[in-house]
Amino acid sequence: MKFKPANKIQDLQYFGEFGGVNPSISDSSTYTFLSAKTMFDTFEGNADGCYLYSRHTSPSNLYLGEALAEMEGTETANVAGSGMGAITPVLLQLCGAGDHIVSSRTIYGGTYAFLKNFTPKLNINTTFVDITKLDVVENAITENTKVLYCESVSNPLLEVADIKGLAALAKKHNLKLVVDNTFSPLSIAPAQLGADVVVHSLTKFINGSSDTVGGVVCGTQQFIDDLRNVNDGACMLLGSTMDSLRASSILKNMRTLHIRMKQHSMNAMYLAEKFEADGLKTVYPGLASHPSHELFTSMMNEEYGYGGMLTIDVGSLTKANELMELMQNKNLGYLAVSLGFYKTLFSAPGSSTSSEIPEDEQEQMGLTDGLIRFSIGLDNDIERTYEVMKDCMKQVGVL
Ligand code: PLP
Repeated sequence: MKFKPANKIQDLQYFGEFGGVNPSISDSSTYTFLSAKTMFDTFEGNADGCYLYSRHTSPSNLYLGEALAEMEGTETANVAGSGMGAITPVLLQLCGAGDHIVSSRTIYGGTYAFLKNFTPKLNINTTFVDITKLDVVENAITENTKVLYCESVSNPLLEVADIKGLAALAKKHNLKLVVDNTFSPLSIAPAQLGADVVVHSLTKFINGSSDTVGGVVCGTQQFIDDLRNVNDGACMLLGSTMDSLRASSILKNMRTLHIRMKQHSMNAMYLAEKFEADGLKTVYPGLASHPSHELFTSMMNEEYGYGGMLTIDVGSLTKANELMELMQNKNLGYLAVSLGFYKTLFSAPGSSTSSEIPEDEQEQMGLTDGLIRFSIGLDNDIERTYEVMKDCMKQVGVL
């Protein structure tokens, strides 16, 4: 049967104390026990339904985790204090000294910096590859490789990973395929295509209101139990826990994710088609000109579209800055990093979210100075938005 992630979120039923339609928020860092034995059993992970201490887990975090696991179709999930707070423990849980990772070279700058500069201190080394070339990926695998890492749609170049192909490689070489699905929630469901672990920055589309950071790891019960193990679990011991109040507010926002993603995608598709027709160098997975358009189409849950992210290249950083400042002045959106907000957000990744990547490597991967990354908002009147954007583009001379 077709995987229907929004139905699965909709069908969850939680009640609060006193019959509240939202689950009660567990506003406690610690929990009492009537018997010392149950406390011991809970600490050892052998007393289901009991809570000990909110860094381990809390009812509010479990509710949110369950909704995210339903969305990705995994056995369970563990929420974290940020996207990086989800990604880094996963990699440290799966790899130890001497191990090797094969990663896409176009990934979020923070993840890139972690793999390039931080994990080598622990003797975990990474080979960065063009993830769209399965033969190149396979050639980079060594006897020490433990993990294949990619983003379903990459930040900021919007390269699309062939998740089924990568999952087959992972299986063949006994590796874990870890996929960051931050850019394409609902549209793509990596675990359904064979990914072992799916991570998200909840900060973006899933929460959708740019009021918090958050992250999640979706995977098997065994893997999530390992991450939460009190003796050697990376989530447990590195301590990137989400606060219960936040978990509760993200859960409420998540219930409208399906409506928001449809609107983000519809607006982004409209603008991408217009920009391309105007002769701008436009990258959007929904355009037939995108090198992985067919691949995205073959993987997607159609009703959510090709997502809210697009890029244009206006030739130089100076022009990019001029255009972004003007668009902000015209109230078309904000010159800001991050994504998934109701307003359009735009930034030049080379000098912001991907600035951790050295310039020569940026050049190699096609990350140019004039690239503007747009997270297209929920505008009700996208035709009007386009007309004003076009005027801005004419004014700064990119059209
Ligand atoms: N993954 C992707 C694709 C991102 O774009 C980001 C942040 O921009 C992250 C992970 C990190 O998430 P957070 O900022 O919530 O730690």
